Amino acid sequence: MDDSLRTSGIENIGKIYWGTHIAQLYDSVEDFFNISVPYIMSGLKSNELCLWIYSQNTSFDEIIKFLEVHMVDVDSYVKSGQLILIPYTEIYIEDDSFNEVRANRQWKHYVERALKEGYDGLRSVADTYWLEKSYYRTFERYENNIQKIIPEMNFIVLCLYDASKSDTLQIAEIIKNHSYVIIKSDDKYEIVKNVELLIKDRQLLQAHEYDRLKNEFMANVSHELRTPLNVILGTVQLLELKKTDVDIKEHKYIKILKQNCYRLVRLINNVIDITKIDADFYEIKKQNCDIVNLVEEITVSVAEYALSKEITVVFDADTKQKVINCDPDQIERIVLNLLSNAIKFTPAGGKISVLVHDKGEKIELIVKDNGIGIPKDKQKSIFKRFEQVDKSLSRHEGSGIGLSLVKALVEKHDGNIAVNSEENKGSEFIIGLPCNIQNSESEESWIVQSLLKRPEKIKIEFSDI
Ligand code: ADP
Repeated sequence: MDDSLRTSGIENIGKIYWGTHIAQLYDSVEDFFNISVPYIMSGLKSNELCLWIYSQNTSFDEIIKFLEVHMVDVDSYVKSGQLILIPYTEIYIEDDSFNEVRANRQWKHYVERALKEGYDGLRSVADTYWLEKSYYRTFERYENNIQKIIPEMNFIVLCLYDASKSDTLQIAEIIKNHSYVIIKSDDKYEIVKNVELLIKDRQLLQAHEYDRLKNEFMANVSHELRTPLNVILGTVQLLELKKTDVDIKEHKYIKILKQNCYRLVRLINNVIDITKIDADFYEIKKQNCDIVNLVEEITVSVAEYALSKEITVVFDADTKQKVINCDPDQIERIVLNLLSNAIKFTPAGGKISVLVHDKGEKIELIVKDNGIGIPKDKQKSIFKRFEQVDKSLSRHEGSGIGLSLVKALVEKHDGNIAVNSEENKGSEFIIGLPCNIQNSESEESWIVQSLLKRPEKIKIEFSDI
């Protein structure tokens, strides 16, 4: 936790957390630099990208001159790119007026840039001298809003306000919207702490830290589980190959062992993927592929299995071919998941249809069954993590991860998923995917690789039926 504490360089404030929003009400140029110079120097010495946003009251050269009084190597920081000085117009202004969206975008951009370039985060000085009195309220509303995004980033900002331009009401707003406000009183700098904001920042930070630790733990445990499981699965497969030596009973045990290994593989894969999605580490590898052919192949490859449960699976499409930019492995997971649910919840004699509709700008994939259906009041929650329709009766075993993962994967494709269902009549899952294509790419390189692995994937996705 301590590595998130930064040295502020401001006396009476000391160490601060990432996400701290400070303001100074300055009386003079001297005041202005008394606080901001040591503040920026601390950032330069602590491996932070430092961004100084200046207004009409100072200039690039003047800031450098003041910094040089305290530091010998200011130039080298500018040359290396660790210290950036830019006018306020490049952050706050668009089409001659203040633009909140642009400002937020720019902060995010610089924080990302800092992390990408190997700095611990971004430290900024933001001079608000450019603010017209009449804009104060709009700007303070923005300062209040930004309070919600700063704590989520490795970002510290010192906002400089000209005291002579601020009346009591405005000062009250500034105090409300910053964690610390530095005010000069009797020739001394006084710090006004906004206790409420400080507590909020810290709670948020602890919540983030907890989430990070939890995700890391889940990812580690899941990977650790995978290794022994692969050994067991490999041994079971070897035993199966030698099945001439074992009797029928033993053969049945081996089958049960294998089936349960696949169930564990599925559960672990799902947990790993959900954890990655939560931590925003999940990457999909999109390429151009014919979605009609892909979905048809997946459907055909499970038809035989479904038939063994006396369920027919049919495929239909209103177009022969539709090339879209998507991750075929993930589309396969989505469709296999919906199909395995459809088979799981459809009694013998039932029918499952997989349909592809070309709707121009989007493609619709439908997996429809005439099985047991989902009660109306439960339909909203099935896409939520760990939700199962009937926990008490536990109609079937399962982790309740499947559909939440399907939804996350669909959304990674900028698509959406919906369900229509009626109890004892059946369920219909409808996926909409945008029809974008990527230029300059070969179309069907994916098919061979994907097809080779499919039988194994089906065993895994269908392991808990
Ligand atoms: P699980 O891993 O438990 O199957 P899912 O997220 O895949 O979890 O599904 C959540 C719940 O939604 C299931 O437990 C089941 O009750 C319900 N469900 C999903 N698909 C269907 C379907 N085709 N017909 C009936 N119920 C379904």
